[in-house]
Amino acid sequence: MSPRSDLGRLDLRDRTPTTAELRASLPRGGVDVDSVLHHVRPVVEAVRDRGADAALEFGEKFDRVRPDRIRVPAEELDKSLTGLDPRVRDALEVAIDRARTVHRDQRRTDTATEVVPGGTVTERWIAVDRVGLYVPGGNAVYPSSVVMNVVPAQEAGVGSLVVTSPPQAEFGGLPHPTILAAAALLGVDEVWAVGGAQAVALLTYGGTDCDGAELEPVDMITGPGNIYVTAAKRLCRSLVGIDAEAGPTEIAILADDTADPRHVAADLISQAEHDVLAASVLVTTSEELADAVDRAVAEQLHTTKHQERVATALSGKQSGIVLVSTIDDGIRAVNAYAAEHLEIQTRDAAAIAGKIRAAGAIFVGPHSPVSLGDYCAGSNHVLPTAGCARHSSGLSVQTFLKGVHVIEYSEDALRDVARHVIALAHAEDLPAHGDAVRARFPDSPS
Ligand code: NAD
Repeated sequence: MSPRSDLGRLDLRDRTPTTAELRASLPRGGVDVDSVLHHVRPVVEAVRDRGADAALEFGEKFDRVRPDRIRVPAEELDKSLTGLDPRVRDALEVAIDRARTVHRDQRRTDTATEVVPGGTVTERWIAVDRVGLYVPGGNAVYPSSVVMNVVPAQEAGVGSLVVTSPPQAEFGGLPHPTILAAAALLGVDEVWAVGGAQAVALLTYGGTDCDGAELEPVDMITGPGNIYVTAAKRLCRSLVGIDAEAGPTEIAILADDTADPRHVAADLISQAEHDVLAASVLVTTSEELADAVDRAVAEQLHTTKHQERVATALSGKQSGIVLVSTIDDGIRAVNAYAAEHLEIQTRDAAAIAGKIRAAGAIFVGPHSPVSLGDYCAGSNHVLPTAGCARHSSGLSVQTFLKGVHVIEYSEDALRDVARHVIALAHAEDLPAHGDAVRARFPDSPS
Protein backbone atom coordinates (compact mmCIF):
# COMPACT_ATOMS: atom_id res chain seq x y z
CA MET A 1 0.00 0.00 0.00
CA SER A 2 1.28 3.50 -0.89
CA PRO A 3 2.15 5.82 1.97
CA ARG A 4 -0.26 8.54 3.10
CA SER A 5 0.52 12.23 2.85
CA ASP A 6 0.71 14.49 5.91
CA LEU A 7 -2.68 16.08 5.17
CA GLY A 8 -4.65 16.31 8.40
CA ARG A 9 -8.27 15.12 8.62
CA LEU A 10 -11.39 16.61 10.10
CA ASP A 11 -14.37 14.25 10.26
CA LEU A 12 -17.68 16.14 10.38
CA ARG A 13 -19.86 13.19 9.36
CA ASP A 14 -21.40 12.67 12.79
CA ARG A 15 -22.46 16.28 13.35
CA THR A 16 -24.03 19.34 11.78
CA PRO A 17 -21.86 22.23 12.91
CA THR A 18 -23.21 25.76 12.88
CA THR A 19 -21.63 28.30 10.57
CA ALA A 20 -19.64 29.73 13.50
CA GLU A 21 -18.40 26.23 14.43
CA LEU A 22 -17.46 25.55 10.82
CA ARG A 23 -15.50 28.80 10.61
CA ALA A 24 -13.67 27.94 13.81
CA SER A 25 -12.90 24.32 12.96
CA LEU A 26 -12.08 24.31 9.22
CA PRO A 27 -8.35 24.41 8.47
CA ARG A 28 -7.25 28.01 8.00
CA GLY A 29 -3.93 29.82 8.31
CA GLY A 30 -3.23 33.52 8.16
CA VAL A 31 -0.49 35.99 8.74
CA ASP A 32 -0.22 38.43 11.58
CA VAL A 33 0.27 41.69 9.68
CA ASP A 34 0.13 43.67 12.94
CA SER A 35 3.30 41.92 14.10
CA VAL A 36 5.42 43.69 11.45
CA LEU A 37 3.79 47.13 11.60
CA HIS A 38 6.48 48.40 14.00
CA HIS A 39 9.13 47.28 11.49
CA VAL A 40 7.38 48.76 8.44
CA ARG A 41 6.26 52.10 9.92
CA PRO A 42 9.81 53.59 9.98
CA VAL A 43 10.29 52.53 6.35
CA VAL A 44 7.08 54.30 5.30
CA GLU A 45 7.92 57.40 7.36
CA ALA A 46 11.47 57.59 6.00
CA VAL A 47 10.19 57.44 2.40
CA ARG A 48 7.54 60.04 3.24
CA ASP A 49 10.24 62.35 4.62
CA ARG A 50 13.18 61.64 2.34
CA GLY A 51 11.53 60.20 -0.79
CA ALA A 52 13.46 58.18 -3.36
CA ASP A 53 16.76 58.35 -1.42
CA ALA A 54 15.22 56.47 1.47
CA ALA A 55 13.51 53.98 -0.88
CA LEU A 56 16.86 53.24 -2.52
CA GLU A 57 18.53 52.75 0.88
CA PHE A 58 15.93 50.20 1.95
CA GLY A 59 16.26 48.47 -1.41
CA GLU A 60 20.00 48.21 -0.81
CA LYS A 61 19.33 46.70 2.59
CA PHE A 62 16.53 44.25 1.71
CA ASP A 63 17.12 43.55 -1.99
CA ARG A 64 20.89 43.96 -1.83
CA VAL A 65 21.02 46.19 -4.90
CA ARG A 66 20.76 49.92 -5.65
CA PRO A 67 19.55 50.80 -9.15
CA ASP A 68 21.02 53.88 -10.90
CA ARG A 69 17.53 55.35 -11.04
CA ILE A 70 14.11 54.18 -9.96
CA ARG A 71 12.23 54.71 -13.20
CA VAL A 72 13.21 51.98 -15.65
CA PRO A 73 14.49 53.52 -18.93
CA ALA A 74 12.26 52.92 -22.00
CA GLU A 75 15.05 51.11 -23.84
CA GLU A 76 15.20 48.49 -21.05
CA LEU A 77 11.48 47.78 -21.56
CA ASP A 78 12.06 47.34 -25.31
CA LYS A 79 15.13 45.17 -24.69
CA SER A 80 13.24 42.87 -22.34
CA LEU A 81 10.52 42.32 -24.93
CA THR A 82 13.06 41.52 -27.64
CA GLY A 83 14.78 39.04 -25.33
CA LEU A 84 11.57 37.34 -24.18
CA ASP A 85 11.29 33.60 -24.88
CA PRO A 86 8.81 33.39 -27.82
CA ARG A 87 6.79 30.66 -26.05
CA VAL A 88 6.36 32.89 -22.99
CA ARG A 89 5.46 35.81 -25.26
CA ASP A 90 2.81 33.69 -27.04
CA ALA A 91 1.40 32.54 -23.71
CA LEU A 92 1.33 36.08 -22.31
CA GLU A 93 -0.43 37.32 -25.44
CA VAL A 94 -3.12 34.65 -25.06
CA ALA A 95 -3.49 35.49 -21.35
CA ILE A 96 -3.79 39.22 -22.17
CA ASP A 97 -6.31 38.65 -24.98
CA ARG A 98 -8.55 36.45 -22.85
CA ALA A 99 -8.36 38.73 -19.84
CA ARG A 100 -9.24 41.68 -22.08
CA THR A 101 -12.23 39.85 -23.54
CA VAL A 102 -13.65 39.19 -20.07
CA HIS A 103 -12.79 42.54 -18.51
CA ARG A 104 -14.07 44.56 -21.45
CA ASP A 105 -17.52 43.13 -20.72
CA GLN A 106 -17.29 44.46 -17.16
CA ARG A 107 -17.29 48.13 -18.24
CA ARG A 108 -20.12 50.11 -16.71
CA THR A 109 -22.39 52.56 -18.44
CA ASP A 110 -23.75 55.68 -16.73
CA THR A 111 -27.39 55.46 -15.66
CA ALA A 112 -29.67 58.51 -15.53
CA THR A 113 -32.80 58.08 -13.40
CA GLU A 114 -35.62 60.60 -13.57
CA VAL A 115 -36.76 60.41 -9.95
CA VAL A 116 -39.59 62.91 -10.51
CA PRO A 117 -40.34 65.22 -13.46
CA GLY A 118 -37.48 67.74 -13.40
CA GLY A 119 -35.42 65.79 -10.86
CA THR A 120 -32.70 63.41 -12.05
CA VAL A 121 -29.93 61.42 -10.43
CA THR A 122 -27.27 60.14 -12.78
CA GLU A 123 -24.68 57.63 -11.71
CA ARG A 124 -21.45 58.38 -13.54
CA TRP A 125 -18.60 55.90 -13.53
CA ILE A 126 -15.27 57.69 -13.38
CA ALA A 127 -11.95 55.84 -13.51
CA VAL A 128 -9.32 56.48 -10.84
CA ASP A 129 -6.78 58.92 -12.35
CA ARG A 130 -3.49 57.30 -11.44
CA VAL A 131 -2.88 53.78 -10.19
CA GLY A 132 0.22 52.02 -8.88
CA LEU A 133 0.37 48.28 -9.52
CA TYR A 134 2.65 46.31 -7.21
CA VAL A 135 4.14 43.22 -8.81
CA PRO A 136 5.95 40.94 -6.37
CA GLY A 137 9.53 39.97 -7.07
CA GLY A 138 11.04 38.49 -3.91
CA ASN A 139 10.91 34.70 -4.07
CA ALA A 140 9.37 34.32 -7.51
CA VAL A 141 8.39 36.53 -10.42
CA TYR A 142 4.81 36.89 -11.49
CA PRO A 143 4.35 38.29 -15.00
CA SER A 144 0.79 36.95 -14.77
CA SER A 145 0.17 39.45 -11.95
CA VAL A 146 1.12 42.26 -14.34
CA VAL A 147 -1.59 41.05 -16.70
CA MET A 148 -4.20 40.60 -13.96
CA ASN A 149 -3.64 44.10 -12.54
CA VAL A 150 -3.04 46.09 -15.70
CA VAL A 151 -5.85 44.74 -17.91
CA PRO A 152 -8.79 45.69 -15.65
CA ALA A 153 -7.23 49.10 -14.93
CA GLN A 154 -6.82 49.78 -18.65
CA GLU A 155 -10.33 48.54 -19.45
CA ALA A 156 -11.71 50.79 -16.70
CA GLY A 157 -10.06 53.76 -18.43
CA VAL A 158 -7.37 54.54 -15.84
CA GLY A 159 -5.32 57.28 -17.52
CA SER A 160 -2.00 56.81 -15.80
CA LEU A 161 -0.47 53.53 -14.65
CA VAL A 162 2.83 52.79 -12.96
CA VAL A 163 4.06 49.25 -12.36
CA THR A 164 6.51 48.75 -9.53
CA SER A 165 8.54 45.64 -8.74
CA PRO A 166 11.66 44.94 -6.66
CA PRO A 167 15.08 45.55 -8.21
CA GLN A 168 16.97 42.31 -8.86
CA ALA A 169 20.69 42.13 -8.15
CA GLU A 170 21.24 39.60 -10.94
CA PHE A 171 19.70 42.01 -13.47
CA GLY A 172 21.71 45.05 -12.45
CA GLY A 173 19.01 46.54 -10.27
CA LEU A 174 16.19 46.28 -12.82
CA PRO A 175 13.01 44.34 -12.06
CA HIS A 176 12.94 40.85 -13.53
CA PRO A 177 13.02 41.05 -17.37
CA THR A 178 9.84 38.95 -17.70
CA ILE A 179 7.98 41.57 -15.66
CA LEU A 180 9.40 44.36 -17.82
CA ALA A 181 8.42 42.42 -20.94
CA ALA A 182 4.87 41.85 -19.67
CA ALA A 183 4.54 45.58 -18.93
CA ALA A 184 5.86 46.43 -22.39
CA LEU A 185 3.44 43.97 -24.05
CA LEU A 186 0.58 45.68 -22.23
CA GLY A 187 1.75 49.12 -23.35
CA VAL A 188 2.76 50.28 -19.87
CA ASP A 189 5.71 52.64 -20.23
CA GLU A 190 6.23 53.62 -16.60
CA VAL A 191 7.90 50.96 -14.45
CA TRP A 192 9.75 51.59 -11.19
CA ALA A 193 12.50 49.39 -9.78
CA VAL A 194 11.46 49.44 -6.15
CA GLY A 195 9.84 46.78 -3.96
CA GLY A 196 8.52 46.03 -0.49
CA ALA A 197 7.13 48.65 1.90
CA GLN A 198 9.36 51.32 0.36
CA ALA A 199 7.56 50.85 -2.98
CA VAL A 200 4.14 51.30 -1.38
CA ALA A 201 5.36 54.42 0.43
CA LEU A 202 6.92 55.90 -2.72
CA LEU A 203 3.73 55.27 -4.68
CA THR A 204 1.80 57.00 -1.90
CA TYR A 205 3.99 60.05 -1.37
CA GLY A 206 5.91 60.31 -4.64
CA GLY A 207 9.46 61.63 -4.84
CA THR A 208 12.24 62.76 -7.12
CA ASP A 209 14.30 60.25 -9.07
CA CYS A 210 18.12 60.27 -9.12
CA ASP A 211 18.10 62.24 -12.40
CA GLY A 212 15.72 64.86 -10.99
CA ALA A 213 12.59 63.48 -12.71
CA GLU A 214 9.36 63.47 -10.70
CA LEU A 215 7.94 60.19 -9.42
CA GLU A 216 4.30 61.22 -9.22
CA PRO A 217 2.20 59.87 -6.34
CA VAL A 218 -0.78 57.65 -7.20
CA ASP A 219 -4.43 57.63 -6.10
CA MET A 220 -4.69 53.89 -5.64
CA ILE A 221 -2.40 50.88 -5.16
CA THR A 222 -3.28 47.33 -6.18
CA GLY A 223 -1.43 44.05 -6.42
CA PRO A 224 -0.33 41.24 -4.14
CA GLY A 225 2.81 41.20 -2.05
CA ASN A 226 4.42 39.74 1.04
CA ILE A 227 3.67 40.67 4.65
CA TYR A 228 5.78 43.88 4.48
CA VAL A 229 3.95 45.07 1.38
CA THR A 230 0.61 44.30 3.03
CA ALA A 231 1.59 46.11 6.24
CA ALA A 232 2.66 49.19 4.24
CA LYS A 233 -0.66 49.17 2.36
CA ARG A 234 -2.44 49.09 5.71
CA LEU A 235 -0.42 52.10 6.91
CA CYS A 236 -0.98 54.10 3.70
CA ARG A 237 -4.62 53.28 3.11
CA SER A 238 -5.99 56.53 4.45
CA LEU A 239 -3.98 58.43 1.83
CA VAL A 240 -4.45 56.12 -1.15
CA GLY A 241 -7.04 53.54 -2.09
CA ILE A 242 -5.91 49.94 -1.85
CA ASP A 243 -7.49 46.84 -3.38
CA ALA A 244 -7.34 44.41 -0.50
CA GLU A 245 -4.90 42.85 1.92
CA ALA A 246 -4.01 39.64 0.11
CA GLY A 247 -3.22 36.84 2.55
CA PRO A 248 -1.68 33.46 1.75
CA THR A 249 -3.35 31.77 -1.18
CA GLU A 250 -6.04 29.09 -0.73
CA ILE A 251 -7.80 26.33 -2.63
CA ALA A 252 -10.83 24.39 -1.46
CA ILE A 253 -12.04 21.46 -3.53
CA LEU A 254 -15.56 20.11 -3.06
CA ALA A 255 -15.52 16.59 -4.46
CA ASP A 256 -17.56 13.39 -4.44
CA ASP A 257 -16.75 9.85 -5.53
CA THR A 258 -16.82 10.87 -9.22
CA ALA A 259 -13.68 13.01 -8.86
CA ASP A 260 -10.33 11.75 -10.16
CA PRO A 261 -8.01 11.56 -7.13
CA ARG A 262 -4.95 12.28 -9.27
CA HIS A 263 -6.47 15.53 -10.48
CA VAL A 264 -7.57 16.53 -6.98
CA ALA A 265 -4.08 15.78 -5.63
CA ALA A 266 -2.40 17.73 -8.45
CA ASP A 267 -4.61 20.75 -7.81
CA LEU A 268 -3.97 20.67 -4.03
CA ILE A 269 -0.22 20.50 -4.72
CA SER A 270 -0.31 23.28 -7.32
CA GLN A 271 -1.73 25.69 -4.76
CA ALA A 272 0.70 24.57 -2.04
CA GLU A 273 3.54 25.37 -4.45
CA HIS A 274 2.92 29.13 -3.94
CA ASP A 275 3.92 29.45 -0.33
CA VAL A 276 4.60 27.43 2.85
CA LEU A 277 1.56 29.21 4.29
CA ALA A 278 -0.71 28.34 1.34
CA ALA A 279 -3.87 26.40 2.23
CA SER A 280 -5.07 23.32 0.32
CA VAL A 281 -8.35 21.89 1.60
CA LEU A 282 -10.41 18.99 0.25
CA VAL A 283 -14.05 18.73 1.37
CA THR A 284 -15.54 15.39 0.36
CA THR A 285 -18.41 13.02 0.94
CA SER A 286 -16.25 10.04 -0.03
CA GLU A 287 -13.77 8.44 2.36
CA GLU A 288 -12.49 6.33 -0.55
CA LEU A 289 -11.69 9.49 -2.50
CA ALA A 290 -10.02 10.99 0.58
CA ASP A 291 -7.77 7.92 0.93
CA ALA A 292 -6.97 7.87 -2.78
CA VAL A 293 -6.14 11.61 -2.78
CA ASP A 294 -3.94 11.07 0.24
CA ARG A 295 -1.98 8.39 -1.59
CA ALA A 296 -1.83 10.40 -4.83
CA VAL A 297 -0.48 13.45 -2.96
CA ALA A 298 2.23 11.30 -1.36
CA GLU A 299 3.18 9.91 -4.79
CA GLN A 300 3.12 13.25 -6.64
CA LEU A 301 5.17 14.93 -3.91
CA HIS A 302 8.18 12.85 -4.98
CA THR A 303 8.28 14.43 -8.42
CA THR A 304 7.11 17.97 -7.80
CA LYS A 305 9.84 20.63 -8.07
CA HIS A 306 9.20 22.64 -4.91
CA GLN A 307 8.81 19.54 -2.76
CA GLU A 308 9.84 21.06 0.55
CA ARG A 309 7.59 24.10 0.22
CA VAL A 310 4.64 21.97 -0.88
CA ALA A 311 5.13 19.43 1.93
CA THR A 312 5.29 22.23 4.51
CA ALA A 313 2.11 23.85 3.19
CA LEU A 314 0.19 20.57 3.03
CA SER A 315 1.20 19.47 6.53
CA GLY A 316 0.38 22.86 8.05
CA LYS A 317 -2.73 23.50 10.13
CA GLN A 318 -4.17 25.49 7.24
CA SER A 319 -4.45 22.42 4.96
CA GLY A 320 -6.33 19.13 5.24
CA ILE A 321 -9.18 16.86 4.25
CA VAL A 322 -12.68 17.43 5.62
CA LEU A 323 -15.17 14.55 5.52
CA VAL A 324 -18.86 15.41 5.33
CA SER A 325 -21.98 13.19 5.13
CA THR A 326 -23.78 14.80 2.22
CA ILE A 327 -23.01 17.17 -0.60
CA ASP A 328 -25.31 19.75 1.02
CA ASP A 329 -23.15 19.58 4.16
CA GLY A 330 -20.15 20.07 1.86
CA ILE A 331 -21.76 23.14 0.32
CA ARG A 332 -22.39 24.57 3.80
CA ALA A 333 -18.76 23.91 4.72
CA VAL A 334 -17.25 25.57 1.65
CA ASN A 335 -19.66 28.51 1.95
CA ALA A 336 -18.52 29.01 5.56
CA TYR A 337 -14.89 28.70 4.49
CA ALA A 338 -15.26 31.19 1.58
CA ALA A 339 -12.11 30.09 -0.20
CA GLU A 340 -10.12 32.28 -2.53
CA HIS A 341 -10.37 29.48 -5.14
CA LEU A 342 -13.09 26.82 -5.03
CA GLU A 343 -13.15 23.82 -7.34
CA ILE A 344 -16.31 21.75 -7.74
CA GLN A 345 -15.49 18.21 -8.78
CA THR A 346 -18.80 16.43 -8.28
CA ARG A 347 -21.67 15.08 -10.34
CA ASP A 348 -23.84 17.94 -11.61
CA ALA A 349 -20.96 20.31 -10.87
CA ALA A 350 -22.66 23.30 -12.52
CA ALA A 351 -25.79 22.84 -10.38
CA ILE A 352 -23.67 22.58 -7.21
CA ALA A 353 -21.72 25.69 -8.27
CA GLY A 354 -25.03 27.54 -8.47
CA LYS A 355 -25.51 26.96 -4.74
CA ILE A 356 -22.17 28.51 -3.76
CA ARG A 357 -22.59 31.82 -1.93
CA ALA A 358 -19.00 32.62 -0.98
CA ALA A 359 -15.79 32.04 -2.98
CA GLY A 360 -13.30 34.32 -4.72
CA ALA A 361 -13.67 32.31 -7.95
CA ILE A 362 -15.45 29.01 -8.67
CA PHE A 363 -13.91 26.43 -11.00
CA VAL A 364 -16.56 24.08 -12.29
CA GLY A 365 -16.07 20.48 -13.38
CA PRO A 366 -13.07 18.30 -14.12
CA HIS A 367 -11.55 20.51 -16.83
CA SER A 368 -11.40 23.85 -15.01
CA PRO A 369 -8.39 23.65 -12.67
CA VAL A 370 -7.25 26.68 -10.69
CA SER A 371 -4.03 26.81 -12.76
CA LEU A 372 -6.16 27.67 -15.78
CA GLY A 373 -7.59 30.64 -13.86
CA ASP A 374 -4.12 31.65 -12.67
CA TYR A 375 -3.06 32.30 -16.24
CA CYS A 376 -5.33 31.83 -19.22
CA ALA A 377 -9.04 31.46 -18.40
CA GLY A 378 -9.72 35.16 -18.91
CA SER A 379 -10.84 35.51 -15.28
CA ASN A 380 -8.85 37.58 -12.77
CA HIS A 381 -6.51 35.81 -10.36
CA VAL A 382 -6.34 38.58 -7.76
CA LEU A 383 -8.98 37.27 -5.37
CA PRO A 384 -10.10 37.72 -1.76
CA THR A 385 -8.40 35.43 0.78
CA ALA A 386 -8.88 34.59 4.48
CA GLY A 387 -12.68 34.31 4.26
CA CYS A 388 -13.05 37.81 2.75
CA ALA A 389 -14.94 36.23 -0.17
CA ARG A 390 -17.95 36.36 2.18
CA HIS A 391 -18.13 40.11 1.50
CA SER A 392 -15.64 41.03 -1.22
CA SER A 393 -14.84 40.36 -4.87
CA GLY A 394 -11.66 39.85 -6.80
CA LEU A 395 -9.98 42.51 -8.89
CA SER A 396 -12.10 43.73 -11.80
CA VAL A 397 -12.86 46.81 -13.84
CA GLN A 398 -15.17 47.88 -11.00
CA THR A 399 -12.17 48.08 -8.64
CA PHE A 400 -10.83 51.02 -10.64
CA LEU A 401 -14.11 52.89 -11.00
CA LYS A 402 -15.84 55.40 -8.75
CA GLY A 403 -19.59 55.72 -9.01
CA VAL A 404 -20.45 59.41 -8.67
CA HIS A 405 -24.06 60.57 -8.27
CA VAL A 406 -24.85 63.70 -10.23
CA ILE A 407 -27.98 65.40 -8.88
CA GLU A 408 -29.91 67.95 -10.88
CA TYR A 409 -33.35 69.25 -9.75
CA SER A 410 -35.40 72.03 -11.30
CA GLU A 411 -36.95 74.79 -9.19
CA ASP A 412 -40.36 73.08 -9.29
CA ALA A 413 -38.95 69.68 -8.40
CA LEU A 414 -37.12 71.18 -5.40
CA ARG A 415 -40.22 73.14 -4.33
CA ASP A 416 -42.26 69.91 -4.39
CA VAL A 417 -39.99 68.12 -1.96
CA ALA A 418 -38.90 71.13 0.15
CA ARG A 419 -41.23 70.44 3.11
CA HIS A 420 -39.90 66.90 3.45
CA VAL A 421 -36.27 68.05 3.47
CA ILE A 422 -37.15 70.68 6.11
CA ALA A 423 -39.02 68.12 8.25
CA LEU A 424 -36.13 65.68 8.21
CA ALA A 425 -33.61 68.46 8.91
CA HIS A 426 -35.61 69.41 12.02
CA ALA A 427 -35.87 65.77 13.10
CA GLU A 428 -32.07 65.59 13.01
CA ASP A 429 -31.71 68.95 14.77
CA LEU A 430 -29.92 70.39 11.75
CA PRO A 431 -32.20 73.38 11.05
CA ALA A 432 -29.63 75.12 8.84
CA HIS A 433 -30.11 72.28 6.37
CA GLY A 434 -33.78 73.17 6.15
CA ASP A 435 -32.92 76.89 5.91
CA ALA A 436 -30.71 76.20 2.88
CA VAL A 437 -33.78 74.95 1.04
CA ARG A 438 -36.13 77.63 2.45
CA ALA A 439 -33.73 80.37 1.32
CA ARG A 440 -34.56 79.45 -2.27
CA PHE A 441 -38.30 79.98 -1.68
CA PRO A 442 -38.55 83.06 0.56
CA ASP A 443 -42.23 83.61 -0.30
CA SER A 444 -43.37 80.11 0.66
CA PRO A 445 -45.10 79.52 3.99
CA SER A 446 -42.73 77.86 6.47
P1 NAD B 1 7.40 40.85 -2.67
O1 NAD B 1 7.76 41.66 -3.86
O2 NAD B 1 6.03 40.97 -2.13
O3 NAD B 1 8.39 41.22 -1.47
C1 NAD B 1 9.76 41.44 -1.71
C2 NAD B 1 10.16 42.72 -1.01
O4 NAD B 1 10.02 42.57 0.40
C3 NAD B 1 11.59 43.08 -1.27
O5 NAD B 1 11.64 44.01 -2.31
C4 NAD B 1 12.05 43.70 0.04
O6 NAD B 1 12.19 45.07 -0.10
C5 NAD B 1 10.97 43.40 1.03
N1 NAD B 1 11.55 42.72 2.19
C6 NAD B 1 12.15 41.51 2.20
N2 NAD B 1 12.58 41.23 3.45
C7 NAD B 1 12.26 42.29 4.23
C8 NAD B 1 12.42 42.59 5.61
N3 NAD B 1 13.02 41.74 6.44
N4 NAD B 1 11.94 43.76 6.07
C9 NAD B 1 11.31 44.64 5.24
N5 NAD B 1 11.14 44.38 3.92
C10 NAD B 1 11.60 43.23 3.43
O7 NAD B 1 7.75 39.34 -3.06
P2 NAD B 1 7.64 37.98 -2.25
O8 NAD B 1 8.38 38.06 -0.98
O9 NAD B 1 8.02 36.93 -3.23
O10 NAD B 1 6.11 37.83 -1.87
C11 NAD B 1 5.12 37.72 -2.83
C12 NAD B 1 3.82 37.33 -2.13
O11 NAD B 1 2.74 37.61 -3.01
C13 NAD B 1 3.74 35.85 -1.79
O12 NAD B 1 3.22 35.73 -0.50
C14 NAD B 1 2.79 35.30 -2.86
O13 NAD B 1 2.07 34.16 -2.43
C15 NAD B 1 1.89 36.48 -3.04
N6 NAD B 1 1.18 36.47 -4.33
C16 NAD B 1 -0.18 36.53 -4.27
C17 NAD B 1 -0.92 36.56 -5.43
C18 NAD B 1 -2.40 36.69 -5.34
O14 NAD B 1 -3.04 36.92 -6.34
N7 NAD B 1 -2.99 36.58 -4.17
C19 NAD B 1 -0.28 36.51 -6.68
C20 NAD B 1 1.11 36.48 -6.69
C21 NAD B 1 1.82 36.47 -5.51
